Amino acid sequence: MTPTLDTDRLFGTVQYIDGSWRASTSGETRELIDPATGDVIVTVDEASPADATAAVAAARAAFDGGEWPATPMAERTALLARIADLLERDKEELSLIETLDTGKTLPESRIDIDDVVSVFRYYAQLATVSPDRVVDVGNPAVISRVVHEPIGVCVLIAPWNYPLLQMSWKVAPALAAGCTMVLKPSEVTPLSTIAFVRLVEEAGAPAGVVNLVQGSGATLGSALTDTGDVDFISFTGGLATGRIILETAAKHVTKVAVELGGKNPHIVFADAVATAEGMDASVDQVLTGVFLHSGQVCSAGTRLIVEESVADEFVAELVTRAEAIRMGPGLDDASETGPLVSTAQREKIEKYVELGKSEGATLLTGGTRPSDPALADGSFFLPTVFDHCSREMRIVQEETFGPILTVERFTTDDEALRLGNDTEYGLAAGVRTADPARAERMVRGLRHGTVWLNDFGYYTAAAEWGGFKKSGNGRELGPTGLSEYQETKHIWNNT
Ligand code: NAD
Repeated sequence: MTPTLDTDRLFGTVQYIDGSWRASTSGETRELIDPATGDVIVTVDEASPADATAAVAAARAAFDGGEWPATPMAERTALLARIADLLERDKEELSLIETLDTGKTLPESRIDIDDVVSVFRYYAQLATVSPDRVVDVGNPAVISRVVHEPIGVCVLIAPWNYPLLQMSWKVAPALAAGCTMVLKPSEVTPLSTIAFVRLVEEAGAPAGVVNLVQGSGATLGSALTDTGDVDFISFTGGLATGRIILETAAKHVTKVAVELGGKNPHIVFADAVATAEGMDASVDQVLTGVFLHSGQVCSAGTRLIVEESVADEFVAELVTRAEAIRMGPGLDDASETGPLVSTAQREKIEKYVELGKSEGATLLTGGTRPSDPALADGSFFLPTVFDHCSREMRIVQEETFGPILTVERFTTDDEALRLGNDTEYGLAAGVRTADPARAERMVRGLRHGTVWLNDFGYYTAAAEWGGFKKSGNGRELGPTGLSEYQETKHIWNNT
């Protein structure tokens, strides 16, 4: 346990229902493990299905006739701004929590928390402008208006890789829209969301507007999603869980947005690496694009698709730099990358490495745990590169969610585009080329929700994020990220 965190204050009770912190009724607890050391950070309560049902009921009571949905949107923004201020005040504490829980480096966690602040500031500003409109129906006696109303009670379910950031993409627009909600962070990394809800309470959210249950998805999942009393489910996580949630939602005709996995191509043309600067920037971004947070990023560029004429040189440079990445605990200033989130996740990655070898891919580097004895207790795994990969291989098609890069080669633009789209997913893609016409054809031809041209990994709260194909069916961030939490109502008034 780290001495710098006041774990009793922050995590003594972790279920927040109807404006009060409560012990769980399950009697079950969970040890949360620091993946850098294997040490227990803290032991927290696991909510029972009854707790989850109580949380949904509290959100329902706060919505039906409650003050929050009736508050004008422009006034709701004050709460978002207060939350943003408190997040800034506690940024160091939240960053430390995120690093302990996920293993990512402290600088990465600080960026995450800055981004969380930006999301709240963005929706606080967006919500000052009403999207309502008057419609001309061709009859002067009729005043026709389209107004926006909160969608209702929302269940917000987040994954473990960007715990608070992914949750903020849901909570900020849901609050701005006037919804009430139940938050269910990943049981692997719930701590930053628990600390965040304390800030929401301090900021003055009315009781029942924001509720939190912490515990396993399998146990709480149906209690949260199968009640028939929820108006909207926003889920970010894996494809298999997304399918379960979609099936449950279909039963009740509950609206649902799922943000799922990715198998994201990063396409490098020879013209992008013709200069030394181009080569340097391209290798750097391919490397960061796949190995940031040990590859545990939904938009990680896990498939390098590189033009044959430069492939050997490019991959050799990439491997040299991958081997130079400094791996260590996220709290150590010298670390450039931390461990995987858990030993379970590392076992999954180790299976994929064995699979890649058996499928005939050439392992160029990595594929094992680091030999440094100082890292033996953490769930570290070396950056791994497989060359000479092909589309039939499962390591090319399945989301490994770890530090594994596969390399495929192409000779024509058509082939590059075909390979870039040759996945059931469609979350994100990168293209590197110096040719503007080729660039435009590629960025428009790629069937992915975000495409980076000569850059990789960036996003902004003001632009929509989401997937084509099996990467999901909704959009977060931007104006669409707010409208997901709104119903439109047409009011026809014959004066
Ligand atoms: P996961 O699907 O295992 O879990 C996600 C969340 O769902 C967790 O809170 C979990 O407890 C909960 N859950 C599990 N079973 C449930 C059920 N039956 N009902 C309701 N909730 C349930 O995913 P994960 O391993 O936490 O996260 C990794 C996945 O998330 C990857 O596939 C990654 O690509 C994806 N992801 C996508 C995006 C995006 O923007 N598209 C962003 C981040 C992560």
